Amino acid sequence: MSNSPIDLLPSDLAYVPFVSVDNMMRNVRAIGVETFLRGIARYIEQDFLRWESFDKKPRIPAHAPQGVIELMPTSDGKTFGFKYVNGHPGNTRDGLQTVTGFGVLSNLMTGYPMLFTEMTILTALRTAANSALAAKYLAPKGSTTMAIIGNGAQSDFQCLAFKEMLGLTEIRAYDIDSAASLRLARNLASSGLNVTICKTPEDAIEGAQIITTVTADKKSATILTDNMIGTGVHINAVGGDCPGKTELHRDILLRSDIFVEFPDQTHIEGEFQQLDRDHPVTELWQVYAGKAEGRTSQDQITLFDSVGFAVEDFAALRYVHDLLPKTGYFEKLDLLADPDDPRDLYGMVLRSAANGDHQAA
Ligand code: NAD
Repeated sequence: MSNSPIDLLPSDLAYVPFVSVDNMMRNVRAIGVETFLRGIARYIEQDFLRWESFDKKPRIPAHAPQGVIELMPTSDGKTFGFKYVNGHPGNTRDGLQTVTGFGVLSNLMTGYPMLFTEMTILTALRTAANSALAAKYLAPKGSTTMAIIGNGAQSDFQCLAFKEMLGLTEIRAYDIDSAASLRLARNLASSGLNVTICKTPEDAIEGAQIITTVTADKKSATILTDNMIGTGVHINAVGGDCPGKTELHRDILLRSDIFVEFPDQTHIEGEFQQLDRDHPVTELWQVYAGKAEGRTSQDQITLFDSVGFAVEDFAALRYVHDLLPKTGYFEKLDLLADPDDPRDLYGMVLRSAANGDHQAA
């Protein structure tokens, strides 16, 4: 699998590789979820290391009282990618996902798409890989235990990524819905992780060096209060990712060193929205590039204020694009018109009628 930015594909590609949910699951199973998570993390790190080559802007939202739909575009000057993603915390009541998505990667030289894929599963994988990558630089060395508050769709992936990339062995799970914690424990039963279901968030964070919050609620919640947080922990705050939707009490932010993806977006969507824009935060790409420090002392509280940024999805799309020739798990999607003479688009319609194709039933 190539580790370099994507080579341009031939512009005469007659189909677009399409990865359905079924094929995404086959791809994950074919190489193993842990390898997949590590692979995405590697691609995210590569892309963060060439941060300045990306076109960056906060994502474009459409809000409703029930949730949000967002478009997340970016480009490195050769390749363009975007994700469509939603966040609707009430959806699970109706048997729907809180977060779903799909994405496209395109050749910027021809404008032709080179990948169209589901991104519901891929978002969970990339979010977990991204969290674990940040924690590699920020969490206390030798961490063994993670509290995970919010045991929904993202949580299993988070636990597996931290096990794979940081060597965690213990998970302490809490959710307001105990059925969610039982589901998480069941899914992780043969993962090698020891899962303890806890009755309160205070119980969950007892003895944990890493605290992940990944709850879904369309409001400013206080999942963690200041008095719950001892010195030296790493907080991986994933669930607060929309205006008016946060998880941590502001006092925790004031005691923490805050690390972010793209400050302009995080200030709109993350825990950072509770602070002035000029409050100091560190951009993760600078930590990865050795231009800024990550964890510097045992007593420091580090906080990754995760909201999810377009460059991470670009990296995940790139990873899947590079994986497909190995696994073959995709379909050829007839998405692009391909007339013999590029200007004879209507002629192609006429000829298809003359051939008797596409008659109404
Ligand atoms: P989900 O609906 O499947 O799960 C959320 C869980 O949180 C549910 O089990 C719910 O019972 C629990 N919960 C709600 N309030 C709680 C509280 N006060 N205390 C404890 N548990 C509580 O959602 P999901 O797909 O797992 O997503 C979780 C959150 O992560 C969402 O807010 C989503 O927008 C966010 N997210 C962020 C990123 C990112 O990159 N930062 C990426 C994907 C999802």
